[in-house]
Amino acid sequence: MLYRLKTDFRLSIITLLATSAILGITPFAVMRFVQGNLLAGAVDLGIMLAITAGMVYAWITGDTARSGFAMALVACGGAVTVGALVGEPGLFWLYPCLVTSFFLTEPRYAIFINLAAVLALMVHGVAFSSLVQMWTFAATAVVVSCCAYVFAHRNENQRERLEHLATIDPLTGVKNRRSMDQELAMAVASASRTGISYALVLLDIDYFKKINDEYGHNVGDDVLVDMVALIEQNIRKSDQLFRFGGEEFVLLMPGVDSTGLRAVMHNLQHIMHKFLRHPGGQVTASFGVALLQAGEKPDDWLARADEALYEAKDTGRDRIVYADGRVASPA
Ligand code: GH3
Ligand code: MG
Ligand code: MG
Repeated sequence: MLYRLKTDFRLSIITLLATSAILGITPFAVMRFVQGNLLAGAVDLGIMLAITAGMVYAWITGDTARSGFAMALVACGGAVTVGALVGEPGLFWLYPCLVTSFFLTEPRYAIFINLAAVLALMVHGVAFSSLVQMWTFAATAVVVSCCAYVFAHRNENQRERLEHLATIDPLTGVKNRRSMDQELAMAVASASRTGISYALVLLDIDYFKKINDEYGHNVGDDVLVDMVALIEQNIRKSDQLFRFGGEEFVLLMPGVDSTGLRAVMHNLQHIMHKFLRHPGGQVTASFGVALLQAGEKPDDWLARADEALYEAKDTGRDRIVYADGRVASPA
């Protein structure tokens, strides 16, 4: 639960909003019922229930886009209704709603919701004691919305940049080992849920140290970049390539059976033989291939591909070894 709160920013905002709405609105709802203002009390109760339902929906389904949008709508709509019912004191509730809407939903929806809320109160007009007060309210609401937009926008940009830095290999532009661990765990979960087969290929360039030693590190870097480009041109959109470390890469392929896998691997090796070069000639690689087995854990799956790669190196390099030729049937 804590992990989800830490990693999913919108879910944490939804949870924060719902918790503070329950804590903040409850005393007012009670007060309004005690004072006999049943309609305002019922509106408060309705807002609380809708916001709580939104939070529960987000936690269960993980669909924070839809629940965030609905909660921004409920919060601003609720604040407008309260403002229209109880007058001036209700106006203050709109400010926190205007700010949070930018963190709950996309900017274009938040702008629309905020403008609609402010306009609705102005058209209704009853909440304001004078024209000056109404226009002051409108101006401050717009200023608050603009500040919230800028802050939310910067926050989103920085989050994306950090995520990019944490998950992408800067040299080749493919995902790094950290993302690979996540994707392998997701593949294992998806295989047990849907029965889709997954293949994992561990690829290691042969005698790469020699290329570096003879032609320099920059040439070695170019070989890595060329190989990644070549592989990416020749795999499907659903296949994913990761840099496992150094000159080792992992290719994750969903929806391939044992026969299809052999054809894909044969083609990949053929393409590399034909097009991957360094200044002294051909660059070759060794491959360890493993189809995911029923109930297998990511580490065990990777270990089988690694054993197969080791065998490919040990028996002469520039070859493909299938772990599944030696073990039980695939999932
Ligand atoms: P083998 O056929 O057994 O795989 O031999 P190898 O020389 O390819 O393997 P080894 O593990 O001995 O050497 C890997 C080399 O890869 C050593 C390291 O300097 C180099 N290397 C790792 N990362 C990079 C990189 O980002 N750029 C360059 N140019 N070289 C790298
Ligand atoms: Mg190598
Ligand atoms: Mg290596």
